[in-house]
Amino acid sequence: MYIKEIEFVNFKSFGKKVKISFYNDFTTISGPNGSGKSNIIDGILFALGLTSSRTLRAEKLTDLIYNGDEAKKPDFAQVTIRFDNTDRKLPLELDEIVVSRKVRRTKSAYYSYFYFNGKAVSLGEIHSQLSKAGVTPEGYNVVMQGDVTQIISMTSVERRKIIDEIAGVAEFDERKQKALGE
Ligand code: ATP
Ligand code: MG
Repeated sequence: MYIKEIEFVNFKSFGKKVKISFYNDFTTISGPNGSGKSNIIDGILFALGLTSSRTLRAEKLTDLIYNGDEAKKPDFAQVTIRFDNTDRKLPLELDEIVVSRKVRRTKSAYYSYFYFNGKAVSLGEIHSQLSKAGVTPEGYNVVMQGDVTQIISMTSVERRKIIDEIAGVAEFDERKQKALGE
């Protein structure tokens, strides 16, 4: 399974609808400072359901909405990821898996919506579907700036936890704890 395409609408510096295609094996993004490279990674984490806005380099979720034009202030941001699932890593009879997230603000509040293959779902549903394919936004599919130094300075027990997570064991530990509690 790999990301085929990402679509941004009003997300961070992407004031217009922007589609970015990815390759199966390797994709590099290059550009001048401040051109939006890291915003693409933030967009991926946002769509995959990362809940902490700080990791997305924003004070609050609504700061993710494009604000670069005084004349046009959109009230929502949306990021859609299209995965190629021809290898059936995610055990559904679908060649394409589409995950999307939208944040919308009103005068007094903001709302977050998740969609899985076009259907509105909960964040939990997104996490449980994606974890079947080993995709965990809080995990180590994405290596953020500073992660490597952090891993080096961890204790061996903490490092073991990362290996459990990558191997997919941590999820079962969590479910077991939950089941025991019930
Ligand atoms: P570097 O090479 O320095 O790491 P980069 O290509 O990773 O740069 P980003 O951090 O992705 O750049 O983009 C930063 C730009 O995104 C800044 O110019 C910032 O103003 C813009 N930006 C962030 N949030 C918003 C927003 N909500 N609306 C409009 N622009 C935004
Ligand atoms: Mg950057």
